[in-house]
Amino acid sequence: IIEDHWRARHREGGYEIVYTPHIGRSLLWERSGHLQFYKENMYAPIDIEGVQYYLKPMNCPFHILIYKSRTRSYRDLPLRWAELGAVYRFERSGVLHGLLRVRGFTQDDAHIFCTPEQIEDEILGVLDFSLSMLRDFGFEEYQVELSVRDPRTPEKYAGRDEMWEQAERSLVRALEARNLPYKRMEGEAVFYGPKIDIKIKDALGRAWQCTTIQFDFNLAERFDLTFRDRDGQERRPYLVHRALLGSLERFFGVLVEHYGGAFPVWLAPVQAVVIPIADRHVDYAWEVARRLKAAGLRVEVNDSSDRMQAKIRDAQLEKIPYMLIVGDRERAAGEVNLRRRDGEVPGAMSVEAFIGMAQEAVRERRLL
Ligand SMILES: [Zn+2]
Repeated sequence: IIEDHWRARHREGGYEIVYTPHIGRSLLWERSGHLQFYKENMYAPIDIEGVQYYLKPMNCPFHILIYKSRTRSYRDLPLRWAELGAVYRFERSGVLHGLLRVRGFTQDDAHIFCTPEQIEDEILGVLDFSLSMLRDFGFEEYQVELSVRDPRTPEKYAGRDEMWEQAERSLVRALEARNLPYKRMEGEAVFYGPKIDIKIKDALGRAWQCTTIQFDFNLAERFDLTFRDRDGQERRPYLVHRALLGSLERFFGVLVEHYGGAFPVWLAPVQAVVIPIADRHVDYAWEVARRLKAAGLRVEVNDSSDRMQAKIRDAQLEKIPYMLIVGDRERAAGEVNLRRRDGEVPGAMSVEAFIGMAQEAVRERRLL
């Protein structure tokens, strides 16, 4: 469900979805610098017919290879490529922690290639896109950090001064355009470019690192990325990495914590459970379930021999948003008796009326 939403929003947002391999030749990771700077986070190589392959710790080099698969003109740009890419990073067994810290995870990654003239609009676009998506999932409070280089040691960073200045300016402008308070982290930028990190606050006020929007002057140089500009000159495009939810596994863990398992209807794994009062109502319960499924709702029938009160308690424990109780009266009238997770009992309504109500809650991403 999270992935479907993610894909739909990316397509609307002008991204193309790409898929790239899980392993890459050592040559690729040498060129990208990962074997030089990131090796301790990578797994041991796999020997395939005498060539060393590594599990990918990041998707970037593959997206760059797609960029380089043909000559690019200013007319092609901006290019926005997004991938739900499985990446593998070495973590010591002692630090693994549920869904929050794992060795292989799905990064909701994207890379943006654009001209220097486009960079401000692109950064603003990415920022708006990120915040709007976080809001879809119910996160309204953020902590924003802007990491810039240490101006006293420019030699420690890849990329020319004017690129760092333009990059930083575009990040600051985007934050200011949206009135987002942020903390400026002097000297906290990685060597390849400045970045914005967004932490979301969950229901208990805990902050979780999610979104990162990051310039990369290093890979653009190492892979000699170019585009042909209006005047026929070859120029270097800007390359921006962006992970929005971060790791899907981790984000899912955060979602569970945020909602305490009581997901909004659109995210609930089971949106409704039909509860027949007695055995003779089971057939009708399944008929109701079929109609709900046909309307795109995720529904189960609890046709166990437990008593009705026990079934309601089970559904409440599972935090299923809607319980639909059906007995003689409901069957005769073609209705369901609605009871909500929060204890409210709207009562009898037609199956159609319930479907309309549930679909609206999904559409508006309401809690119930
Ligand atoms: Zn990247």
